[in-house]
Amino acid sequence: MAILITGGAGYIGSHTCVQLISQGYKIVVVDSLSNSNIESLNRVSELTDTEFPFYNVNLLDPDSLERVFEENHIDSVIHFAGLKAVGESVLRPLDYYHNNLTGTFNLCKVMEKFHVKKIVFSSSATVYGNPKLVPIKEDAPLSATSPYGQTKLMTEQVLRDLFEADSGWSIALLRYFNPIGAHLSGRIGEDPTGIPNNLMPFISQVAIGKLDQLSIYGNDYATVDGTGVRDYIHVVDLAKGHIKALEHLMGTTGVEAFNLGTGKGYSVLQMVKAFEKATRTAITYSIAPRRPGDIAECYADSTKAKKVLGWVAEKEIEEMCRDTWRWQQRNPHGYKHDQVLT
Ligand code: NAD
Ligand code: UDP
Repeated sequence: MAILITGGAGYIGSHTCVQLISQGYKIVVVDSLSNSNIESLNRVSELTDTEFPFYNVNLLDPDSLERVFEENHIDSVIHFAGLKAVGESVLRPLDYYHNNLTGTFNLCKVMEKFHVKKIVFSSSATVYGNPKLVPIKEDAPLSATSPYGQTKLMTEQVLRDLFEADSGWSIALLRYFNPIGAHLSGRIGEDPTGIPNNLMPFISQVAIGKLDQLSIYGNDYATVDGTGVRDYIHVVDLAKGHIKALEHLMGTTGVEAFNLGTGKGYSVLQMVKAFEKATRTAITYSIAPRRPGDIAECYADSTKAKKVLGWVAEKEIEEMCRDTWRWQQRNPHGYKHDQVLT
């Protein structure tokens, strides 16, 4: 029996593949490579000394997806595949709704056909919209501030309705906070195309000299130092959370949401300082206007994941920064080139 990993070539997917294989699970990966490079999966194989089936298949193509289920004994799915850039989703809403929703509909229909009813879904803290209260618990009010966020909210609802219609389903909705860091080996990590939108890859590209300086979006929020506060979680801790969720699904049916975060908030300025300290580099920055749609503060209450899944995030911010930097230094051009900048 194998676990199907959709979007397994991506940032979080590739780290989860390594953890799954290391714990003895068999995997099958499906990815359209629309936002990733096959090299990430080559490196998963190299790190684990294991070969596994890979299908260059788009979830928008249900016939090809069916073939994956025909050719493999799949008993559960971890569903990472999706478009994830908030700003882009505002500019291209139809692409986001189509890819993220239709892709999930196709996946669930094929799963139904093959009587596979266990799924771990990549949701996001973005489903809390502009939270009134931090730390955020799973029962906080939900809302979306972008088409991307809507696709997460809607998919959660679709999966809840699926369980209402058929109580044989077993579904975990994992609401990630802000994943950063990379595998300790420096062989796999986050490889954004173009100029990064997210803070951590932006900082590390300033450190390596690819970008001139960081713009800090606003220093007049009601936070510790005026800059935005987020809950940064090491991607390897996050990957381990998927295995705990999957193991939980094995013995139960139902649909449950879990926050995966550390429970600690760091401001942008604190992150800049932490990165400088952990990596002995200097980050040039200037203060810019607030980014439209940004919220002041967002961090998790992950008590439920601890209680129900037996999962807690273990890695601290220094390790997250060091691991990000190792990946950046060893792969200055991401997966495209191996050579190190001098
Ligand atoms: P990623 O872009 O690195 O990985 C997603 C993968 O899915 C990519 O390899 C892409 O090629 C693939 N994909 C996209 N659409 C597809 C389709 N229709 N068919 C097949 N493959 C497709 O992103 P990531 O950071 O690894 O995120 C994984 C999931 O977690 C996404 O659903 C994302 O929305 C969610 N998430 C990410 C973050 C984050 O900050 N990285 C935070 C919260 C939630
Ligand atoms: N941020 C910033 N400059 C950047 C990118 C991000 O100041 O170039 C800030 C952003 O305003 C937020 C925090 O860093 O307060 C985290 O942003 P990111 O986009 O990584 O995550 P999200 O806002 O989606 O949680």
